[in-house]
Order: sequence, then C-alpha cells, then structure tokens
Amino acid sequence: MNRTSDSSVSRRTMVLQLAPAAAALAMSGIVPAMAADRSRNDPGPTNPPLDAQNVDSAWPPATDSKSLVQNFKYPFSFANKRAYEGGWSREVTVRELPVSKSMAGVNMRLTAGGVRELHWHTAGEWAIMLYGTARITSIDKEGKSFVADVKKYDLWYFPGGIPHSIQGLEPDGCEFMLVFDDGDFSESETVLLSDAMAHLPPEVLAKNFSVSQESLKGLPKQELFIFQTEVPGSLEADQKAAGGALERSTVDFAFRTMEMPPTKSTKGGEVRIVDSSKFKVSATTMAMVTVRPGGLRELHWHPNADEWQYYIAGKGRMTVVATGNKARTMDFQAGDVGYVERTLLHYVENTGDTDLVFLEMFKSSYYQDVSLSEWLAHTPPELVMAHLRIDRATFDAMPKTEVVVMPL
Ligand code: MN
Ligand code: MN
Repeated sequence: MNRTSDSSVSRRTMVLQLAPAAAALAMSGIVPAMAADRSRNDPGPTNPPLDAQNVDSAWPPATDSKSLVQNFKYPFSFANKRAYEGGWSREVTVRELPVSKSMAGVNMRLTAGGVRELHWHTAGEWAIMLYGTARITSIDKEGKSFVADVKKYDLWYFPGGIPHSIQGLEPDGCEFMLVFDDGDFSESETVLLSDAMAHLPPEVLAKNFSVSQESLKGLPKQELFIFQTEVPGSLEADQKAAGGALERSTVDFAFRTMEMPPTKSTKGGEVRIVDSSKFKVSATTMAMVTVRPGGLRELHWHPNADEWQYYIAGKGRMTVVATGNKARTMDFQAGDVGYVERTLLHYVENTGDTDLVFLEMFKSSYYQDVSLSEWLAHTPPELVMAHLRIDRATFDAMPKTEVVVMPL
C-alpha cells in the first residue's frame, strides 16, 4: 500500500490506491471491502497538514479496534518553550501524556556559553546529546569532581541527588534530550543553586561560607535556571581547577555511544543497547534503533518495564496491542514522544523513504524483550500451526531467533 502522507493526495486517489488491497482482502473473506465504503470522506472542518502526519488516526487500519486505546503519542511541537537568554527548555511529562507514568522527557537548547545552572533533583537524569557540544560538571558521592565534554549521541547519567550543570560550547552550543525516571518529573521543580541561596538568611550564608555578608550582596534574588555567560576555557584547565586537592572522580557519568559497535545489525537496520553492563552508573537503559526504509522493528514486548520513545529522524508507525482486544496504530516523526506500557505487543515500521531513528528508553538498569518470532520458533511447531492455521512451510520460513530489525 502506498503510504504517502502528501496532503495533496486527494481522498479519491487514496481510495483508488486502497482498492486492490481491499478487494483482495474482501475476496479472502477477511474484512468487508472498506475502500468502497462511501463514508470514508471528511467534509470538514479539517486540518490537512496534521491529518497528513497522522494517516493511521484519520483512517485507522481495519485491524485497529474501535474501542479506545489510551493515546500514546505527544509531539514536542505541542510543548511550550521556557525561553531565556542562553537557551530554552520544554518538557513532555505525565501532564501532557497521561500514559507516560514511569518516565518524562525534557528537550533543552543552550547557546555557546549558555548554562543550565547548577542544580539537583530526586529523579535520575539520563541524557543524550542531539546536536553540538557541551561541558557537563558534577561531583560523586565522595566529593570528587567530574568535568567532561560531550558531543552528538554521547550520553550522561546523574543519579538522584547528585548535583550537576550543563553548558553549551563553541561554535553553536548544543541541544539534548533529558529522560527522567519519573513521569511526574518537571524541570521547573528542581533545586537550583540560585534559588536555594535566595531563600537562606544572609547571616547564615555568611557564616556557612566564612565570608562577609557584604561580599554576598550580589546573589541573584530569583532563579537563573538558564543564563548566558562566557564560553569556558579548555577542558583540562576546568578539570584541574575543579579537582582542587582531591583526585578526579573515578565514576564516569558520561558514555560515548558511537564508539561502541552496534549490538545487532541486519539488512533492515541496527540497534545499540546501552544498559548498566556498559554504562555502569546508569539505572536507565537505552536501545537506539535505526530502521532502514521498508524495514520493521519486529513484533516484541518488554516484560520488565514501560518503554518511553523519542523519535530522532524519519517517519514510522507503531501499533500497540492493548489488553482486552484493543489495538491502536499511530504515526510518528522526528520530535515525537511515544509510549508503550510494560508487556504490550508492538512493532515500529519505517513508513518514510529515509532512515527511521528512535530511542527505546526503560526505567531499568538492564534491557529485556521477548521477540514474537523467537517465542513461536521455540514452541512445539504443531501447536503454533494449529493456532495460526499455517502450514509447515510457512512455519519453517519464519525467523528462528530474535532479528530485532527485519529483514534479516
Ligand atoms: Mn538535572
Ligand atoms: Mn519496544
């Protein structure tokens, strides 16, 4: 089926394109001839660009259920930006996407020199760089310093309560995605250095730091959150200055994703799985999936955790089969968040003509999935054939191990 989302394609053309497939299905007796259904039009009002991006919502596949499945998509385009001199942030939490109870995402941009100010929070912070370069700082539980520079697709992880900062570097700062292990997390509810200082009696601060009250009179009266300052000097100089009398931290809060070979590579695409076996400090797991045009992230589910998705490039669609005979298909493109609850069957198909790249994120220190094909291949064949009403040749042709991205 032609899955073009060009809004210039008229309903009539769509119906004509659908007709052969529908006719074939009708002859097979599986479904009525839906393409001939004169109800498949919408006199309006409509929003053609949005409909074109969401063809599987506008006209769901016949296999979707008519009973409602909780929405599992939220585009960052709908999230309002908190803009500052120095950068901006926007977030998709359980407030925007009610199904996303276990994780929340914050998208942030910092200019060269722009700082996400020193702060901490209770949630664990996992991040992936999407653009440019940044310098991150932290200390470990022993008070030893950590300062590192990160580039596109590098990760970092700051456990709950560990203070940190992020600053954009030359030439054009950075953009990154933060993923928190709490759907209720909000970037506007963190403990900021500036805010904390503004809420403490000046005489206490003076006593605490062993300085005069006069020397602290310039403290900000309100939070900074994001602010513009000078681009920092060399990494070595910052590491040395921050280290002071203590050695540097032996904990690496950063991970260089692209220095690792793909975990699995096929004709259809590849996956890089980074869990705590590779990125020791992280209690959040990432599978970065690339699906080539025509490819399919195979049918599977995750027994151990909900899946929070972020689409980085390309176009795709996903069907989630929910419990109680429910199913829904939704379309995704760069900038969208998707969500699949623990144990629900799903696939992700590339519906565009460029590589589809997306993240599968889990609130878990390890990765776990069950491949539908692998399960069926390791079940007595007669039993599977009786369920699916397929012959032996068809059973034999099905993949016998987990492929991850089809085709093999
Ligand atoms: Mn943070
Ligand atoms: Mn998945």
